[in-house]
Amino acid sequence: MFLPTTKKEMEKLGWDRLDVVLVSGDSYIDSPYVGVAVIGKVLLEAGFRVGVIGQPDISNDDVMRLGIPQLFWGVSAGCIDSMVANRTASGKKRNRDDYTPGGRNDRRPDRATIAYTNLIRRYSREEPKPVVLGGIEASLRRVAHYDCWTDSVRRSVLFDAKADFLLYGMCERSVVELARCLKDGKDASIVRGLCYISKTLPEGSIELPSFEEAAADKDAFTRAFQLFYNNNDPATASRLAQGHADRYLVQNPPAFYLEQKDFDAVYNIKYERDLHPFHKKDGEVKALETIRFSISTHRGCYGECGFCAIAVHEGRRVRSRSSESIIAEARQIARHPLFKGRIHDVGGPSANMYATTCTRMEKSGCCMKKSCISPKVCPLMKFGHDEQISLLKAVRSIEGVKKAIVASGIRHDLVLADRKDGERYLKELVAHHVSGQMKIAPEHTETSVLDQMGKPGCTPEALVKFKELFYKFTGEAGLKQFLSYYLMAAHPGCTAADMKKLKSFVTRELGSIPEQVQVFTPTPSTFSTLVYWTGRDPFTGRPVFVEKSAKGREEQKAILCGYEKEGRHPAPKPHWQKKQHLKGRGAKKY
Ligand code: SF4
Ligand code: SF4
Repeated sequence: MFLPTTKKEMEKLGWDRLDVVLVSGDSYIDSPYVGVAVIGKVLLEAGFRVGVIGQPDISNDDVMRLGIPQLFWGVSAGCIDSMVANRTASGKKRNRDDYTPGGRNDRRPDRATIAYTNLIRRYSREEPKPVVLGGIEASLRRVAHYDCWTDSVRRSVLFDAKADFLLYGMCERSVVELARCLKDGKDASIVRGLCYISKTLPEGSIELPSFEEAAADKDAFTRAFQLFYNNNDPATASRLAQGHADRYLVQNPPAFYLEQKDFDAVYNIKYERDLHPFHKKDGEVKALETIRFSISTHRGCYGECGFCAIAVHEGRRVRSRSSESIIAEARQIARHPLFKGRIHDVGGPSANMYATTCTRMEKSGCCMKKSCISPKVCPLMKFGHDEQISLLKAVRSIEGVKKAIVASGIRHDLVLADRKDGERYLKELVAHHVSGQMKIAPEHTETSVLDQMGKPGCTPEALVKFKELFYKFTGEAGLKQFLSYYLMAAHPGCTAADMKKLKSFVTRELGSIPEQVQVFTPTPSTFSTLVYWTGRDPFTGRPVFVEKSAKGREEQKAILCGYEKEGRHPAPKPHWQKKQHLKGRGAKKY
Protein backbone atom coordinates (compact mmCIF):
# COMPACT_ATOMS: atom_id res chain seq x y z
CA MET A 1 0.00 0.00 0.00
CA PHE A 2 0.89 3.64 -0.37
CA LEU A 3 0.84 5.77 2.76
CA PRO A 4 -1.93 8.38 2.53
CA THR A 5 -1.17 11.80 1.05
CA THR A 6 -4.68 13.30 1.37
CA LYS A 7 -7.54 13.27 3.88
CA LYS A 8 -9.59 11.28 1.41
CA GLU A 9 -7.01 8.51 1.41
CA MET A 10 -6.97 8.58 5.22
CA GLU A 11 -10.73 8.15 5.26
CA LYS A 12 -10.46 5.14 2.97
CA LEU A 13 -8.17 3.55 5.54
CA GLY A 14 -10.61 4.46 8.30
CA TRP A 15 -8.08 6.81 9.92
CA ASP A 16 -9.49 10.03 11.39
CA ARG A 17 -6.10 11.30 12.54
CA LEU A 18 -2.48 10.42 11.92
CA ASP A 19 0.19 9.76 14.52
CA VAL A 20 2.99 11.02 12.32
CA VAL A 21 3.09 13.25 9.23
CA LEU A 22 6.27 13.00 7.16
CA VAL A 23 7.09 16.02 5.00
CA SER A 24 9.71 15.56 2.30
CA GLY A 25 11.56 17.55 -0.35
CA ASP A 26 11.09 14.59 -2.73
CA SER A 27 7.84 13.55 -4.31
CA TYR A 28 6.52 10.46 -2.56
CA ILE A 29 8.03 7.40 -4.21
CA ASP A 30 7.19 4.22 -2.34
CA SER A 31 10.53 2.45 -2.63
CA PRO A 32 13.07 0.92 -0.26
CA TYR A 33 15.57 3.39 -1.78
CA VAL A 34 13.66 6.40 -0.47
CA GLY A 35 14.23 7.25 3.18
CA VAL A 36 10.83 8.78 3.83
CA ALA A 37 9.05 5.72 2.41
CA VAL A 38 11.19 3.38 4.51
CA ILE A 39 10.67 5.37 7.72
CA GLY A 40 6.92 5.66 7.02
CA LYS A 41 6.58 1.93 6.42
CA VAL A 42 8.70 0.99 9.44
CA LEU A 43 6.52 3.21 11.66
CA LEU A 44 3.42 1.69 10.11
CA GLU A 45 4.71 -1.83 10.87
CA ALA A 46 5.27 -0.69 14.46
CA GLY A 47 1.60 0.24 14.71
CA PHE A 48 1.62 3.99 13.99
CA ARG A 49 -0.62 5.73 11.47
CA VAL A 50 1.58 7.64 9.07
CA GLY A 51 0.97 9.97 6.12
CA VAL A 52 3.35 11.60 3.65
CA ILE A 53 3.39 15.06 2.12
CA GLY A 54 5.90 15.07 -0.71
CA GLN A 55 7.10 18.45 -2.01
CA PRO A 56 4.38 20.58 -0.40
CA ASP A 57 3.50 23.87 -2.05
CA ILE A 58 5.31 26.36 0.18
CA SER A 59 3.26 29.36 -0.95
CA ASN A 60 0.26 28.27 1.14
CA ASP A 61 -0.82 25.87 3.90
CA ASP A 62 -0.46 22.72 1.77
CA VAL A 63 1.72 21.24 4.51
CA MET A 64 -1.44 20.96 6.66
CA ARG A 65 -3.18 18.77 4.06
CA LEU A 66 -3.28 15.78 6.42
CA GLY A 67 -4.08 17.72 9.56
CA ILE A 68 -1.99 17.94 12.71
CA PRO A 69 -0.49 14.60 13.81
CA GLN A 70 -1.01 13.20 17.30
CA LEU A 71 2.68 12.59 17.95
CA PHE A 72 5.10 14.46 15.69
CA TRP A 73 5.99 15.94 12.34
CA GLY A 74 8.92 14.34 10.53
CA VAL A 75 10.76 16.69 8.18
CA SER A 76 13.33 15.71 5.56
CA ALA A 77 14.81 17.65 2.63
CA GLY A 78 14.68 14.36 0.68
CA CYS A 79 17.27 11.94 -0.61
CA ILE A 80 19.77 14.73 -1.30
CA ASP A 81 20.76 17.86 0.63
CA SER A 82 18.53 20.55 -0.86
CA MET A 83 21.43 22.90 -1.57
CA VAL A 84 23.29 20.13 -3.41
CA ALA A 85 20.11 19.21 -5.29
CA ASN A 86 19.32 22.81 -6.25
CA ARG A 87 22.66 24.48 -6.82
CA THR A 88 26.19 23.91 -8.02
CA ALA A 89 28.99 24.68 -5.57
CA SER A 90 29.23 28.16 -7.09
CA GLY A 91 25.52 28.77 -6.44
CA LYS A 92 24.13 28.35 -9.95
CA LYS A 93 20.66 26.85 -10.05
CA ARG A 94 20.46 23.32 -11.42
CA ASN A 95 17.61 22.79 -13.83
CA ARG A 96 16.86 19.11 -13.24
CA ASP A 97 15.64 17.26 -10.19
CA ASP A 98 15.32 13.52 -10.56
CA TYR A 99 12.93 13.25 -7.61
CA THR A 100 10.46 15.82 -8.95
CA PRO A 101 7.69 14.80 -11.37
CA GLY A 102 8.48 16.09 -14.84
CA GLY A 103 12.10 16.62 -13.77
CA ARG A 104 11.80 20.40 -13.36
CA ASN A 105 13.69 21.75 -10.41
CA ASP A 106 11.06 24.08 -8.99
CA ARG A 107 9.52 22.18 -6.09
CA ARG A 108 12.26 21.70 -3.50
CA PRO A 109 13.10 24.93 -1.66
CA ASP A 110 16.69 25.76 -0.75
CA ARG A 111 17.36 24.66 2.84
CA ALA A 112 14.17 22.64 2.67
CA THR A 113 14.48 21.36 6.24
CA ILE A 114 14.25 24.91 7.56
CA ALA A 115 11.58 26.00 5.08
CA TYR A 116 9.22 23.11 5.91
CA THR A 117 9.69 23.47 9.68
CA ASN A 118 8.85 27.18 9.45
CA LEU A 119 5.67 26.37 7.53
CA ILE A 120 4.61 23.75 10.07
CA ARG A 121 5.22 26.19 12.93
CA ARG A 122 3.29 28.93 11.14
CA TYR A 123 0.19 26.89 10.37
CA SER A 124 -0.08 24.69 13.48
CA ARG A 125 0.11 27.28 16.21
CA GLU A 126 -3.20 26.18 17.72
CA GLU A 127 -1.83 22.71 18.49
CA PRO A 128 1.99 22.64 18.44
CA LYS A 129 3.55 19.19 18.10
CA PRO A 130 7.24 18.27 18.09
CA VAL A 131 9.07 18.64 14.79
CA VAL A 132 11.69 15.94 14.17
CA LEU A 133 14.30 16.48 11.48
CA GLY A 134 15.78 13.57 9.53
CA GLY A 135 17.33 12.66 6.18
CA ILE A 136 20.76 13.42 4.83
CA GLU A 137 20.49 17.22 5.00
CA ALA A 138 19.73 17.19 8.72
CA SER A 139 22.17 14.37 9.39
CA LEU A 140 25.16 16.14 7.81
CA ARG A 141 24.26 19.50 9.30
CA ARG A 142 23.60 18.27 12.82
CA VAL A 143 26.54 20.11 14.43
CA ALA A 144 28.16 23.41 13.40
CA HIS A 145 29.33 22.84 9.82
CA TYR A 146 30.87 24.63 6.87
CA ASP A 147 28.36 25.64 4.19
CA CYS A 148 29.95 26.50 0.84
CA TRP A 149 26.86 28.34 -0.44
CA THR A 150 27.29 31.03 2.21
CA ASP A 151 31.03 30.39 2.60
CA SER A 152 30.63 30.30 6.35
CA VAL A 153 30.25 28.03 9.34
CA ARG A 154 26.57 27.61 10.14
CA ARG A 155 24.89 26.55 13.36
CA SER A 156 23.40 23.12 13.81
CA VAL A 157 20.32 22.96 11.59
CA LEU A 158 18.33 22.09 14.70
CA PHE A 159 18.81 25.69 15.86
CA ASP A 160 18.25 27.25 12.44
CA ALA A 161 15.07 25.28 11.86
CA LYS A 162 13.87 25.75 15.45
CA ALA A 163 12.87 22.11 15.51
CA ASP A 164 12.65 19.88 18.60
CA PHE A 165 14.66 16.80 17.68
CA LEU A 166 16.95 15.57 14.96
CA LEU A 167 17.46 11.90 14.11
CA TYR A 168 20.71 11.25 12.31
CA GLY A 169 22.04 8.38 10.23
CA MET A 170 19.90 5.40 9.28
CA CYS A 171 17.17 5.84 11.81
CA GLU A 172 14.67 2.97 11.54
CA ARG A 173 15.38 1.89 15.09
CA SER A 174 15.56 5.35 16.67
CA VAL A 175 12.44 6.72 14.99
CA VAL A 176 10.32 3.89 16.42
CA GLU A 177 11.85 4.42 19.87
CA LEU A 178 11.17 8.13 19.66
CA ALA A 179 7.57 7.58 18.54
CA ARG A 180 7.02 5.21 21.48
CA CYS A 181 8.52 7.71 23.94
CA LEU A 182 6.29 10.49 22.65
CA LYS A 183 3.23 8.24 22.72
CA ASP A 184 3.89 7.12 26.29
CA GLY A 185 4.87 10.58 27.51
CA LYS A 186 8.42 9.42 28.34
CA ASP A 187 11.63 11.42 28.19
CA ALA A 188 12.71 11.24 24.54
CA SER A 189 16.17 12.65 25.17
CA ILE A 190 17.53 9.18 25.97
CA VAL A 191 16.98 7.84 22.44
CA ARG A 192 20.21 6.92 20.67
CA GLY A 193 20.79 8.54 17.29
CA LEU A 194 18.97 11.67 18.48
CA CYS A 195 20.07 15.31 18.78
CA TYR A 196 18.26 17.82 20.95
CA ILE A 197 18.79 21.25 22.46
CA SER A 198 19.60 21.61 26.15
CA LYS A 199 20.12 24.57 28.47
CA THR A 200 22.72 22.62 30.43
CA LEU A 201 25.70 20.46 29.54
CA PRO A 202 24.64 16.83 30.09
CA GLU A 203 26.88 14.93 32.46
CA GLY A 204 29.47 12.70 30.78
CA SER A 205 29.31 14.48 27.42
CA ILE A 206 32.36 15.31 25.36
CA GLU A 207 32.20 19.04 24.75
CA LEU A 208 33.13 20.17 21.24
CA PRO A 209 34.44 23.67 20.61
CA SER A 210 31.33 25.83 20.50
CA PHE A 211 29.70 27.06 17.31
CA GLU A 212 31.03 30.53 18.02
CA GLU A 213 34.59 29.25 18.51
CA ALA A 214 34.42 27.01 15.45
CA ALA A 215 33.08 29.85 13.32
CA ALA A 216 35.83 32.23 14.42
CA ASP A 217 38.82 29.91 14.50
CA LYS A 218 39.72 27.23 11.95
CA ASP A 219 41.76 25.23 14.49
CA ALA A 220 38.72 25.06 16.75
CA PHE A 221 36.62 24.01 13.75
CA THR A 222 39.12 21.23 12.99
CA ARG A 223 39.08 19.99 16.60
CA ALA A 224 35.27 19.99 16.61
CA PHE A 225 35.16 18.05 13.35
CA GLN A 226 37.64 15.43 14.54
CA LEU A 227 35.73 14.81 17.77
CA PHE A 228 32.52 14.60 15.77
CA TYR A 229 34.03 12.17 13.24
CA ASN A 230 35.60 9.94 15.90
CA ASN A 231 32.33 9.55 17.77
CA ASN A 232 30.33 8.01 14.98
CA ASP A 233 30.55 4.31 15.73
CA PRO A 234 27.77 2.93 17.97
CA ALA A 235 30.24 0.61 19.71
CA THR A 236 32.52 3.38 20.95
CA ALA A 237 30.88 6.79 20.55
CA SER A 238 30.17 9.10 23.49
CA ARG A 239 27.49 11.71 23.85
CA LEU A 240 28.64 15.01 22.32
CA ALA A 241 27.62 18.54 23.20
CA GLN A 242 28.37 21.77 21.38
CA GLY A 243 27.61 25.22 22.78
CA HIS A 244 25.48 27.51 20.65
CA ALA A 245 25.28 30.86 22.53
CA ASP A 246 23.65 30.02 25.90
CA ARG A 247 22.41 26.56 24.92
CA TYR A 248 23.87 23.24 23.83
CA LEU A 249 23.31 21.03 20.87
CA VAL A 250 23.42 17.52 22.34
CA GLN A 251 24.14 14.54 20.12
CA ASN A 252 23.39 11.17 21.73
CA PRO A 253 25.58 8.24 20.61
CA PRO A 254 24.49 6.70 17.30
CA ALA A 255 21.71 4.13 17.22
CA PHE A 256 22.93 0.55 17.34
CA TYR A 257 22.98 -0.96 13.88
CA LEU A 258 20.13 -3.24 12.96
CA GLU A 259 20.86 -6.91 13.38
CA GLN A 260 20.73 -8.79 10.11
CA LYS A 261 17.24 -10.18 10.72
CA ASP A 262 15.90 -6.67 11.46
CA PHE A 263 17.79 -5.26 8.50
CA ASP A 264 16.23 -7.94 6.30
CA ALA A 265 12.81 -7.12 7.77
CA VAL A 266 13.07 -3.51 6.53
CA TYR A 267 13.36 -4.88 2.99
CA ASN A 268 10.73 -7.56 3.47
CA ILE A 269 8.12 -4.81 3.81
CA LYS A 270 6.02 -4.46 0.69
CA TYR A 271 6.79 -1.31 -1.28
CA GLU A 272 4.78 -0.21 -4.32
CA ARG A 273 7.98 0.68 -6.24
CA ASP A 274 6.12 3.54 -7.83
CA LEU A 275 5.35 7.23 -7.63
CA HIS A 276 2.26 7.94 -5.53
CA PRO A 277 -0.73 8.68 -7.81
CA PHE A 278 -1.02 12.14 -6.16
CA HIS A 279 2.05 13.26 -8.13
CA LYS A 280 1.43 11.43 -11.38
CA LYS A 281 -0.46 14.28 -13.05
CA ASP A 282 2.79 16.28 -12.97
CA GLY A 283 4.79 13.66 -14.89
CA GLU A 284 7.22 10.86 -14.24
CA VAL A 285 10.19 11.01 -11.90
CA LYS A 286 13.51 10.11 -13.47
CA ALA A 287 14.86 8.49 -10.31
CA LEU A 288 12.36 5.68 -10.73
CA GLU A 289 14.06 4.53 -13.93
CA THR A 290 16.94 3.31 -11.80
CA ILE A 291 15.55 2.71 -8.32
CA ARG A 292 12.26 0.99 -9.20
CA PHE A 293 13.91 -2.36 -9.82
CA SER A 294 17.15 -2.09 -7.91
CA ILE A 295 18.24 -3.98 -4.84
CA SER A 296 20.26 -2.62 -1.98
CA THR A 297 22.51 -5.34 -0.58
CA HIS A 298 24.25 -3.54 2.28
CA ARG A 299 24.90 -0.25 4.04
CA GLY A 300 28.03 1.55 5.14
CA CYS A 301 31.45 1.90 3.56
CA TYR A 302 34.90 1.61 5.07
CA GLY A 303 36.40 3.33 2.01
CA GLU A 304 36.41 6.69 3.81
CA CYS A 305 37.05 8.76 0.69
CA GLY A 306 37.52 12.28 2.02
CA PHE A 307 34.84 13.85 -0.20
CA CYS A 308 32.14 11.28 0.60
CA ALA A 309 29.60 11.56 3.41
CA ILE A 310 28.64 7.88 3.55
CA ALA A 311 30.79 7.14 6.61
CA VAL A 312 29.24 10.05 8.54
CA HIS A 313 25.67 9.27 7.49
CA GLU A 314 25.48 5.49 7.14
CA GLY A 315 28.54 4.51 9.15
CA ARG A 316 31.87 3.01 8.24
CA ARG A 317 30.96 -0.52 9.25
CA VAL A 318 29.45 -2.55 6.41
CA ARG A 319 26.19 -4.30 7.34
CA SER A 320 24.92 -6.78 4.80
CA ARG A 321 21.52 -8.30 4.23
CA SER A 322 21.25 -12.07 4.10
CA SER A 323 21.39 -13.56 0.63
CA GLU A 324 17.95 -15.14 1.31
CA SER A 325 16.41 -11.70 1.85
CA ILE A 326 18.05 -10.28 -1.28
CA ILE A 327 16.94 -13.22 -3.39
CA ALA A 328 13.39 -12.96 -1.98
CA GLU A 329 13.33 -9.29 -3.01
CA ALA A 330 14.57 -10.19 -6.49
CA ARG A 331 11.74 -12.73 -6.79
CA GLN A 332 9.24 -10.09 -5.67
CA ILE A 333 10.61 -7.73 -8.32
CA ALA A 334 10.35 -10.45 -10.98
CA ARG A 335 6.62 -10.71 -10.24
CA HIS A 336 6.00 -6.94 -10.47
CA PRO A 337 3.57 -6.16 -13.31
CA LEU A 338 5.89 -3.51 -14.80
CA PHE A 339 9.05 -5.61 -14.63
CA LYS A 340 10.55 -6.33 -18.04
CA GLY A 341 13.43 -8.55 -16.95
CA ARG A 342 16.14 -6.07 -16.00
CA ILE A 343 17.24 -5.41 -12.41
CA HIS A 344 19.04 -2.08 -12.61
CA ASP A 345 21.35 -2.55 -9.69
CA VAL A 346 22.34 -5.12 -7.13
CA GLY A 347 24.70 -3.19 -4.92
CA GLY A 348 25.43 -0.75 -2.15
CA PRO A 349 27.66 2.25 -1.51
CA SER A 350 30.49 0.18 -2.96
CA ALA A 351 29.02 -2.95 -4.50
CA ASN A 352 31.95 -5.23 -3.83
CA MET A 353 32.03 -4.57 -0.09
CA TYR A 354 29.04 -6.88 0.31
CA ALA A 355 29.45 -9.38 3.16
CA THR A 356 32.76 -7.92 4.35
CA THR A 357 33.29 -8.18 8.08
CA CYS A 358 35.94 -7.54 10.66
CA THR A 359 35.63 -9.14 14.08
CA ARG A 360 37.38 -6.27 15.81
CA MET A 361 34.99 -3.82 14.21
CA GLU A 362 31.97 -5.88 15.28
CA LYS A 363 33.09 -6.07 18.90
CA SER A 364 34.87 -2.81 19.60
CA GLY A 365 34.07 -0.51 16.69
CA CYS A 366 36.19 0.77 13.83
CA CYS A 367 39.85 1.60 14.37
CA MET A 368 40.20 5.35 14.68
CA LYS A 369 43.79 5.72 13.63
CA LYS A 370 43.87 3.16 10.88
CA SER A 371 42.16 2.80 7.53
CA CYS A 372 40.63 -0.56 6.67
CA ILE A 373 41.88 -0.54 3.08
CA SER A 374 44.50 2.15 2.63
CA PRO A 375 47.25 1.86 1.68
CA LYS A 376 46.62 -1.92 1.95
CA VAL A 377 43.67 -4.05 2.97
CA CYS A 378 43.87 -4.68 6.71
CA PRO A 379 44.77 -8.33 7.44
CA LEU A 380 42.01 -8.51 10.06
CA MET A 381 39.31 -7.86 7.50
CA LYS A 382 37.36 -10.88 6.30
CA PHE A 383 37.01 -9.72 2.79
CA GLY A 384 36.49 -11.40 -0.56
CA HIS A 385 34.16 -11.69 -3.51
CA ASP A 386 33.01 -15.28 -3.21
CA GLU A 387 29.71 -14.51 -1.46
CA GLN A 388 28.87 -11.79 -3.94
CA ILE A 389 29.56 -14.08 -6.87
CA SER A 390 27.15 -16.68 -5.46
CA LEU A 391 24.56 -14.01 -4.75
CA LEU A 392 24.71 -12.59 -8.27
CA LYS A 393 24.45 -16.07 -9.77
CA ALA A 394 21.35 -16.76 -7.70
CA VAL A 395 19.72 -13.45 -8.64
CA ARG A 396 20.30 -13.81 -12.37
CA SER A 397 18.94 -17.33 -12.39
CA ILE A 398 15.53 -16.29 -11.04
CA GLU A 399 12.78 -16.90 -13.54
CA GLY A 400 11.89 -13.68 -15.33
CA VAL A 401 15.23 -11.97 -14.64
CA LYS A 402 17.02 -11.47 -17.95
CA LYS A 403 19.76 -9.24 -16.62
CA ALA A 404 20.86 -8.17 -13.14
CA ILE A 405 23.25 -5.25 -13.44
CA VAL A 406 25.77 -4.10 -10.87
CA ALA A 407 25.53 -0.38 -11.47
CA SER A 408 26.76 0.79 -8.06
CA GLY A 409 30.41 1.69 -8.13
CA ILE A 410 32.90 -1.01 -7.28
CA ARG A 411 36.28 -0.42 -5.67
CA HIS A 412 38.64 -1.65 -8.37
CA ASP A 413 41.55 -1.67 -5.89
CA LEU A 414 39.63 -4.23 -3.80
CA VAL A 415 39.08 -6.44 -6.83
CA LEU A 416 42.83 -6.51 -7.40
CA ALA A 417 43.57 -6.99 -3.70
CA ASP A 418 41.50 -10.18 -3.61
CA ARG A 419 44.02 -12.65 -5.01
CA LYS A 420 41.71 -15.60 -4.54
CA ASP A 421 38.47 -14.44 -6.14
CA GLY A 422 39.00 -10.92 -7.46
CA GLU A 423 39.55 -11.88 -11.11
CA ARG A 424 36.80 -14.49 -10.97
CA TYR A 425 34.45 -11.74 -9.69
CA LEU A 426 35.41 -9.34 -12.44
CA LYS A 427 34.95 -12.07 -15.04
CA GLU A 428 31.44 -12.76 -13.73
CA LEU A 429 30.59 -9.04 -13.72
CA VAL A 430 31.88 -8.52 -17.23
CA ALA A 431 30.08 -11.55 -18.62
CA HIS A 432 26.71 -11.09 -16.90
CA HIS A 433 26.29 -7.89 -14.91
CA VAL A 434 27.40 -4.97 -17.08
CA SER A 435 25.06 -3.10 -19.36
CA GLY A 436 27.18 -1.61 -22.14
CA GLN A 437 29.50 0.25 -19.87
CA MET A 438 30.93 -0.26 -16.46
CA LYS A 439 31.69 2.78 -14.35
CA ILE A 440 34.50 2.99 -11.87
CA ALA A 441 35.62 6.01 -9.88
CA PRO A 442 39.40 6.40 -9.75
CA GLU A 443 38.78 10.18 -9.30
CA HIS A 444 42.44 11.04 -9.96
CA THR A 445 45.84 9.55 -10.66
CA GLU A 446 48.26 11.97 -9.01
CA THR A 447 49.63 10.58 -5.74
CA SER A 448 49.38 13.84 -3.79
CA VAL A 449 45.74 14.30 -4.81
CA LEU A 450 44.84 10.67 -4.12
CA ASP A 451 46.41 11.04 -0.67
CA GLN A 452 44.25 14.09 0.02
CA MET A 453 41.22 12.15 -1.16
CA GLY A 454 42.03 9.31 1.22
CA LYS A 455 42.53 6.90 -1.67
CA PRO A 456 46.25 6.17 -1.76
CA GLY A 457 45.62 2.55 -2.79
CA CYS A 458 43.87 3.57 -6.03
CA THR A 459 47.15 4.00 -7.87
CA PRO A 460 47.45 4.59 -11.63
CA GLU A 461 49.12 1.16 -11.92
CA ALA A 462 46.06 -0.44 -10.28
CA LEU A 463 43.79 1.42 -12.68
CA VAL A 464 45.72 0.26 -15.75
CA LYS A 465 45.81 -3.31 -14.48
CA PHE A 466 42.06 -3.25 -13.87
CA LYS A 467 41.39 -1.79 -17.30
CA GLU A 468 43.46 -4.52 -18.96
CA LEU A 469 41.59 -7.24 -17.10
CA PHE A 470 38.24 -5.66 -17.93
CA TYR A 471 38.93 -5.63 -21.68
CA LYS A 472 40.54 -9.08 -21.58
CA PHE A 473 37.43 -10.59 -19.99
CA THR A 474 35.13 -8.56 -22.24
CA GLY A 475 36.95 -9.98 -25.29
CA GLU A 476 36.76 -13.50 -23.90
CA ALA A 477 33.02 -13.09 -23.38
CA GLY A 478 32.63 -11.87 -26.97
CA LEU A 479 30.92 -8.65 -25.86
CA LYS A 480 31.14 -5.01 -26.86
CA GLN A 481 31.24 -2.95 -23.72
CA PHE A 482 33.54 -0.37 -22.27
CA LEU A 483 34.86 1.05 -19.07
CA SER A 484 34.08 4.64 -18.08
CA TYR A 485 35.73 6.64 -15.35
CA TYR A 486 34.48 9.13 -12.79
CA LEU A 487 37.12 11.77 -12.28
CA MET A 488 37.21 14.83 -10.09
CA ALA A 489 38.58 18.34 -10.57
CA ALA A 490 39.40 20.96 -7.95
CA HIS A 491 39.57 18.63 -4.97
CA PRO A 492 41.62 20.21 -2.16
CA GLY A 493 45.27 19.61 -2.97
CA CYS A 494 44.65 19.51 -6.72
CA THR A 495 46.30 22.13 -8.92
CA ALA A 496 45.97 22.92 -12.62
CA ALA A 497 49.33 21.15 -13.09
CA ASP A 498 47.84 18.01 -11.47
CA MET A 499 44.92 18.18 -13.88
CA LYS A 500 47.31 18.42 -16.82
CA LYS A 501 49.12 15.33 -15.60
CA LEU A 502 45.79 13.55 -15.15
CA LYS A 503 44.77 14.58 -18.67
CA SER A 504 48.01 13.25 -20.07
CA PHE A 505 47.55 9.95 -18.20
CA VAL A 506 43.97 9.60 -19.35
CA THR A 507 44.87 10.23 -22.99
CA ARG A 508 47.89 7.95 -22.90
CA GLU A 509 46.65 5.06 -20.77
CA LEU A 510 42.88 5.12 -20.93
CA GLY A 511 42.54 6.41 -24.46
CA SER A 512 39.39 8.43 -23.93
CA ILE A 513 38.22 11.93 -23.11
CA PRO A 514 36.26 11.38 -19.91
CA GLU A 515 32.67 12.51 -19.82
CA GLN A 516 32.08 11.94 -16.14
CA VAL A 517 34.09 14.78 -14.63
CA GLN A 518 32.71 16.50 -11.61
CA VAL A 519 34.02 19.58 -9.92
CA PHE A 520 34.47 18.92 -6.20
CA THR A 521 31.47 20.12 -4.16
CA PRO A 522 32.23 20.80 -0.50
CA THR A 523 29.21 19.06 0.99
CA PRO A 524 28.77 19.52 4.74
CA SER A 525 30.63 17.32 7.21
CA THR A 526 33.21 15.60 5.04
CA PHE A 527 36.98 15.58 5.54
CA SER A 528 37.56 17.19 2.16
CA THR A 529 35.20 20.02 3.08
CA LEU A 530 37.18 20.53 6.27
CA VAL A 531 40.36 20.90 4.18
CA TYR A 532 38.55 23.14 1.67
CA TRP A 533 37.50 25.48 4.48
CA THR A 534 40.66 25.48 6.58
CA GLY A 535 43.26 25.09 3.80
CA ARG A 536 45.16 22.68 6.05
CA ASP A 537 45.64 18.95 6.32
CA PRO A 538 43.84 18.03 9.57
CA PHE A 539 46.35 15.25 10.35
CA THR A 540 49.65 17.00 9.68
CA GLY A 541 48.60 20.64 10.01
CA ARG A 542 50.43 21.40 6.74
CA PRO A 543 48.89 23.97 4.36
CA VAL A 544 47.04 22.49 1.39
CA PHE A 545 46.40 24.30 -1.87
CA VAL A 546 42.67 24.78 -2.44
CA GLU A 547 41.22 26.12 -5.68
CA LYS A 548 38.27 28.17 -4.48
CA SER A 549 37.51 30.53 -7.33
CA ALA A 550 34.64 29.48 -9.58
CA LYS A 551 36.76 30.31 -12.63
CA GLY A 552 39.73 28.28 -11.43
CA ARG A 553 37.55 25.32 -10.56
CA GLU A 554 35.89 25.29 -13.98
CA GLU A 555 39.29 25.70 -15.60
CA GLN A 556 40.53 22.56 -13.86
CA LYS A 557 37.60 20.67 -15.32
CA ALA A 558 38.19 22.22 -18.73
CA ILE A 559 41.80 21.01 -18.74
CA LEU A 560 40.61 17.44 -18.43
CA CYS A 561 37.66 17.68 -20.77
CA GLY A 562 39.78 19.13 -23.53
CA TYR A 563 38.04 22.51 -23.88
CA GLU A 564 41.39 24.24 -23.46
CA LYS A 565 42.84 22.51 -26.50
CA GLU A 566 39.78 23.26 -28.57
CA GLY A 567 39.88 26.96 -27.74
CA ARG A 568 36.62 26.80 -25.82
CA HIS A 569 38.02 27.82 -22.51
CA PRO A 570 36.55 27.97 -19.93
CA ALA A 571 33.95 25.24 -20.21
CA PRO A 572 30.87 26.35 -22.15
CA LYS A 573 27.70 26.88 -20.21
CA PRO A 574 24.98 24.33 -20.76
CA HIS A 575 22.04 26.04 -22.45
CA TRP A 576 19.88 25.90 -19.32
CA GLN A 577 22.39 27.84 -17.26
CA LYS A 578 22.03 30.76 -19.67
CA LYS A 579 18.39 31.15 -18.78
CA GLN A 580 16.97 32.76 -15.71
CA HIS A 581 15.56 29.70 -14.00
CA LEU A 582 11.95 29.56 -12.87
CA LYS A 583 11.72 30.29 -9.20
CA GLY A 584 10.11 27.79 -6.84
CA ARG A 585 6.52 28.51 -5.92
CA GLY A 586 6.55 31.03 -3.11
CA ALA A 587 10.33 30.70 -3.00
CA LYS A 588 11.87 32.32 0.01
CA LYS A 589 15.49 32.61 1.12
CA TYR A 590 16.59 31.09 4.39
S1 SF4 B 1 34.20 4.00 -1.87
FE1 SF4 B 1 32.44 5.16 -2.62
S2 SF4 B 1 30.88 5.02 -1.01
FE2 SF4 B 1 32.85 4.41 -0.12
S3 SF4 B 1 33.67 6.26 0.80
FE3 SF4 B 1 34.51 6.12 -1.28
S4 SF4 B 1 33.07 7.30 -2.57
FE4 SF4 B 1 32.04 6.87 -0.61
S1 SF4 C 1 41.00 -4.08 12.45
FE1 SF4 C 1 41.41 -3.49 10.34
S2 SF4 C 1 39.52 -3.95 9.21
FE2 SF4 C 1 39.04 -3.93 11.40
S3 SF4 C 1 38.34 -1.83 11.80
FE3 SF4 C 1 40.52 -1.91 12.24
S4 SF4 C 1 41.49 -1.25 10.34
FE4 SF4 C 1 39.39 -1.81 9.82
